[in-house]
Amino acid sequence: PRCYGSAPPELQEKTLVLVKPDAVQRRLVGTVIQRFERRGFKLVAMKLLQADRGLLDKHYQQLQQKPFYPALLAYMTSGPLVAMVWEGYNVVRSTRAMVGDTDSAMAAAGTIRGDLSMHVSRNVVHASDSVETAQREISFWFQRDELVAWESGDRDYTYGP
Ligand code: GDP
Ligand code: MG
Repeated sequence: PRCYGSAPPELQEKTLVLVKPDAVQRRLVGTVIQRFERRGFKLVAMKLLQADRGLLDKHYQQLQQKPFYPALLAYMTSGPLVAMVWEGYNVVRSTRAMVGDTDSAMAAAGTIRGDLSMHVSRNVVHASDSVETAQREISFWFQRDELVAWESGDRDYTYGP
């Protein structure tokens, strides 16, 4: 079986996931990571940081005019968060499905928000909503050299030959 060698491009799709400050406070970081790990996605970057307003203004550019934006900023700067980049086949779409509806009250059971949160204002995670958004968001949160290219030995068993 093939073990190492660079993965085909469709397996190298990447998305940004944020474990938001409520989840850090509630000690849910490991639980969230575990869900993406056991699905089979590959972690290629991760850090704990206190986000500042400048970064969030870029990240949530399209929400700045919303009435809830000040509350969103206060929430997202209330404590440290964990930023991660996950890689794999269809990772953007699959991750959104795993995260669930924006409004936790509407999020299906079995999704991260549906299982771990109660309200839209404290909804545990962020995940990029398209491949283009993901590329832009990753560049806001990570330097290029913070992404680690590594080969996972289980690729044939995760994706087939
Ligand atoms: P997402 O892509 O599912 O995270 O949802 P959006 O991009 O629409 O919104 C970004 C984030 O803003 C959400 O995850 C929520 O944390 C927050 N948010 C969205 N709608 C509301 C709202 O009506 N009230 C409050 N307080 N926060 C909201
Ligand atoms: Mg969004």
